[in-house]
Amino acid sequence: MRKLIVATLALAFAAGAFLIPDDASAQGKKRFISIGTGGPTGVYFVVGNAICRMVHRAAAEGRKKGRKHGIRCAAPSTAGSTYNIANIKAGELDFGVAQSDWQYHAYNGTSKFKGKAFKKLRSVFSVHPEPYHIIVGKGTGIRSWADLKGKRFNIGNPGSGQRGTTEVLMKAYGTKKSDFRIATELTSTEQSKALCDGKIDAYGYTVGVPNAGVSIATDGCDAVIINLNTKVEANLVKNNPYYAFATIPKGTYKTTSADVTTFGVMATFITSADVPNDVVYEVTRAVFENLDDFRKLHPAFRNLDPKQMVTNALSAPLHPGALKYFKEKGLK
Ligand code: GLU
Repeated sequence: MRKLIVATLALAFAAGAFLIPDDASAQGKKRFISIGTGGPTGVYFVVGNAICRMVHRAAAEGRKKGRKHGIRCAAPSTAGSTYNIANIKAGELDFGVAQSDWQYHAYNGTSKFKGKAFKKLRSVFSVHPEPYHIIVGKGTGIRSWADLKGKRFNIGNPGSGQRGTTEVLMKAYGTKKSDFRIATELTSTEQSKALCDGKIDAYGYTVGVPNAGVSIATDGCDAVIINLNTKVEANLVKNNPYYAFATIPKGTYKTTSADVTTFGVMATFITSADVPNDVVYEVTRAVFENLDDFRKLHPAFRNLDPKQMVTNALSAPLHPGALKYFKEKGLK
């Protein structure tokens, strides 16, 4: 496998923390939890399934030692960040992965979430950096955002975080949907194939580095990731705590012959205040007790650092179940 280097983001956004009394212990109670992820070729899907794996392992080890938590976990593929947030709010999902920008807006009732603040949204921890990628087809001649004018551009499916971030960028550049020849709404699973089949010229994607979906386009049909480092992105980074500049290192994919500079967010693991403290405690514990294994499950997780995971890019308050575990371990 090609040498894969993880992009770094220096996002530091401290979470507020509210203490509320703990629930009764989950010992022995059977409980099913669901984690919203993203498309099957993205990194969120790996995050959710890695967490379920650690939860099940903690259950198996606990059974041997007489420490039962009784939690069973599933992490289905979903439309992405904003879908996950909406479904946690509706009680359809217990947990989810979401971009730090959409966590911020959902909690504060800003941007897409104007008038729809989700005050029961809770942070659990942050995961990997997600640079915003513009991936362009070979021979399309697209080198910058301005070159997308008149092209067939995938703005992403509704419910995905990348769709939201693409819309933010469109607004910042003063680009309207009608400026593209076609603005498609393909999912993260469909977009690379569409690019390689010549059905679209480019797509925008907020995702961890590296990932299978992007490599289908870069390694599969010589698509290229372009730089996004103009004054427009500098202003976005300057004015918003959840954005930071990011580098997709040279050598990450076949066509990454030099470092790519862009901006990005963090992937975060979230839940609702309505999910019981003991459940969130056990899920958090399962993840943090198995961090070495977590890091090995995907190259995007290689730099996971517990101290940063409990503070970086979390704008909703920490769930008390997670906070209890972090306090026990001296992380908070
Ligand atoms: N950031 C993307 C979204 O929120 C998902 C990326 C992934 O699936 O890894 O839609």
